[in-house]
Amino acid sequence: MLRDGALSGRVLLVTGGGTGLGRKIAEGAARLGAKVCLASRDAGHLSAAGEAIRAAGGEALEIPTDVRDYRQVRALVARTLDQFGRLDALVNNAAGNFVRPAERLPETAFRNVVDIVLNGGFYCARAAGRAMIEQGDGGAMLNVLATYAWMGGPGTVHSACAKAGLLAMTRTLAVEWARHGIRVNGIAPGPLATEGASARLWPSDALEERVRRSIPLGRFATLAEVADAALFLLSDHASYVTGEVLTLDGGAWLGRGILAGEGPEEAIPVVRRRRTPRSRDV
Ligand code: NAP
Repeated sequence: MLRDGALSGRVLLVTGGGTGLGRKIAEGAARLGAKVCLASRDAGHLSAAGEAIRAAGGEALEIPTDVRDYRQVRALVARTLDQFGRLDALVNNAAGNFVRPAERLPETAFRNVVDIVLNGGFYCARAAGRAMIEQGDGGAMLNVLATYAWMGGPGTVHSACAKAGLLAMTRTLAVEWARHGIRVNGIAPGPLATEGASARLWPSDALEERVRRSIPLGRFATLAEVADAALFLLSDHASYVTGEVLTLDGGAWLGRGILAGEGPEEAIPVVRRRRTPRSRDV
């Protein structure tokens, strides 16, 4: 979507950059001229993504990091600065998720997801933000959210709470760090058929079809559609955008009315057949 060279000379750090959406954003940024640093726990994920970027002519550095550990995050930012001399953008994308009703969710699992998404997101924002403030010429941050940050997410209370915190952090830091020229935005993708999400969130064809039917546009987003939006927000084309969340869910959260899943043709006749309650009925 953006022109070649749109991120030329920029250094971009992507957590969870070895798989799924994070990898797609990192590959796109490298294609637009950025040097990218990929961070996650699994060195195998990182080296596959880093090699693909180098094979396409880009520049990448892989740094195995667990974002739950602030010392590792500080070392990650320090190594990025050592290698590339500066840091211009952070994508807080690392996450963990699975479906479990709250009453059967172990408290350790709740804590773990909050540790990755919210605490880890803050650790990365803090370490990267300090580097950007020190540099003195601004920067951009992008937090990967989900619409259940504001809708609530039955079956995924752990992730919904963590993303809600990340949304609050997005809006808070956008204001706090505006004086340093650091923009802080979010994207909220709807269902995306990455390997991780498909295996953990809709593991059967029937469930996947149910999810697809809940999307007014009738299909999942492609990774490229979501990554392009992320790259736009990180680029100078969004130089006056901060504290915003761009939702990319095919209309799914707006479509959550009482007739969700039914087109007007099927739904309206059903409604008409029902008697309107009189005031004495209620
Ligand atoms: P994914 O491939 O499973 O990505 C999650 C990434 O997080 C992995 O690369 C994983 O790498 C990394 N990670 C997990 N724990 C970590 C830790 N403690 N430290 C560092 N890295 C860690 O899933 P995805 O679908 O691409 O999701 C990407 C983002 O989009 C997430 O923020 C997710 O919440 C969001 N999102 C996805 C969907 C969807 O339907 N797919 C919808 C809305 C929002 P390692 O295993 O190597 O650590």
